[in-house]
Amino acid sequence: MVISSQEAVNQLKKGKAVAIPTETVYGLAASAFNLSAIESIFEIKGRPSDNPLIVHINSIEQLNLLVKDVSDEARTLIQAFWPGPLTLLFPKKDEVLDKITAGLPNVAVRMPEHPIALEIIQETGPLVAPSANRSGSPSPTRVEHVLSDYNGFIPVVDGGKCQVGIESTVLSLLHEPITILRPGKISKEHIEFVLHKPVEVATMKESHEKVMSPGMKYTHYSPKAKVRWMNTLELEGEFDKKSLYLHVFGSFNSEHHKGFNRDFNHFSRELFDQFRKADEQGFPEIAIEPFRNEDHEMASALLNRIQKAMGV
Ligand code: AMP
Ligand code: MG
Repeated sequence: MVISSQEAVNQLKKGKAVAIPTETVYGLAASAFNLSAIESIFEIKGRPSDNPLIVHINSIEQLNLLVKDVSDEARTLIQAFWPGPLTLLFPKKDEVLDKITAGLPNVAVRMPEHPIALEIIQETGPLVAPSANRSGSPSPTRVEHVLSDYNGFIPVVDGGKCQVGIESTVLSLLHEPITILRPGKISKEHIEFVLHKPVEVATMKESHEKVMSPGMKYTHYSPKAKVRWMNTLELEGEFDKKSLYLHVFGSFNSEHHKGFNRDFNHFSRELFDQFRKADEQGFPEIAIEPFRNEDHEMASALLNRIQKAMGV
C-alpha cells in the first residue's frame, strides 16, 4: 500500500521495512542499527546474505556514526557529488552490523538526492536501502513497480518517477588504483576530473573474484524477454517480429517502438520500466539500437545494465 512519509518514519522507527523513493531507484529501507529489521530486508527481497547493503544518510554527522575515517579524496568527492548517485566505501566502525557489510571491514554509504528520502532519513537516522525489487527482477523506478513486485504488501512512499533510473555508481577509494565497482550516472571521467587522477573500472569478473563488491556477481537486471542488440538496418528487415524496439538515437514511437531521440538521460529513466513493460505485454524479445561508451556520459552504465540483462 502507498503511505505518507510520516507513516514511513513511524514504521521504520518500529523496525519495519518500508520502500522509499530515491533519485536512482526505489529502495527497500530499514533502520541501519536494527538487526532484525535488516534481516527482514534480506528475507523480503530473497537477497543472498553475502550481498552487502548500502547505508543511506542525510548528513555528515550521520556519516561519522558509521565510518572510522574520511580520507581527503573522499571529502573531495562528497563535496562534488553528495547528495547524489555516488556510493563510497569507508572503513566501518564496530557499531556497523556485519549483516550490512556481509562481514567485510568496509561499509558502502551514500547521500541520496531526493527530498522525500532526505526528509525521512533526517527523522530515522541512517537506513539500509537496497533496490526495492524482488531479487532477479529489474530495479523499481516507479511506485507501481514496488506494488506489483510485492502484491501491495510492502508499504511504499510515492515519490514519482525516479529521475536517474539506474542504481548509483559504487566507488572504492580504499586501495590504489581507485576503482569503480559498479558504473552509474557519476562517470569515470567526471570522478577523474574532480580527483585529478586516473580511475579504473573493475570488470564484473574482477569485482567478483577479488570479492571487492560481492553483489556484482548476481544478475539483477533480467527481464523474461530476451534482450539483444539490433541495428536500424536489421530492424527494418524484421519489422513484423513480435519485439519491443528501443531506439536510443531514433525518435519513432509506436506500440512496438520507443524512440529516445539521443536523450540518454531519458533512456536511463525509462530502461527498467521498458524491461518490465515488455514482460507485462508478453513481448518475447527486446531489441535495442546499439550505442558506444563515447556517445554519452551515462553510456557505460547503461551498457553495463543492458549486458547484465542479456546475461553477458
Ligand atoms: P543494491 O543496493 O541492490 O543496488 O546493491 C548494492 C551494491 O553495492 C552491490 O553491488 C554490493 O555488492 C555493493 N556493496 C555494498 N556494500 C559493499 C561493501 N561493503 N563492499 C563492496 N561492495 C559493496
Ligand atoms: Mg539491487
